[in-house]
Amino acid sequence: MALWMLGPDYESIGDRRLKRTKTRKQHEREVYALVDKRDGMTCRCCSGRMTKSLTIEPRRREHHHVVPRSAGGVTETWNIVAICFGCHEQITRHQIECSGNADDELRFTRGAELWRSPAPTE
Ligand SMILES: [Zn+2]
Repeated sequence: MALWMLGPDYESIGDRRLKRTKTRKQHEREVYALVDKRDGMTCRCCSGRMTKSLTIEPRRREHHHVVPRSAGGVTETWNIVAICFGCHEQITRHQIECSGNADDELRFTRGAELWRSPAPTE
């Protein structure tokens, strides 16, 4: 795999050997911090106010991979959205579908209902 495909978190250490310059956890923390800065404490799905909670509650802020990790979805800001626990649950159960680019515009559908969520502007 070419270096440019992996992004800035890798460096070449020889012919075909690559080294992560950051751990996966460090990278995730940085991406989530950027997502939180972009989305604030408002759920991109229901526009409800979210809370920072360590325990599960309906309004807890969570992070959702638009393209799931299991489908090769990367942890980059365009693929991560801040949503509340309640919406996240509905997406996990496929009651709500979420698609698009989180840095630009997301589309949510629930049955025949469609709504769009442009990225908040600072
Ligand atoms: Zn929500």
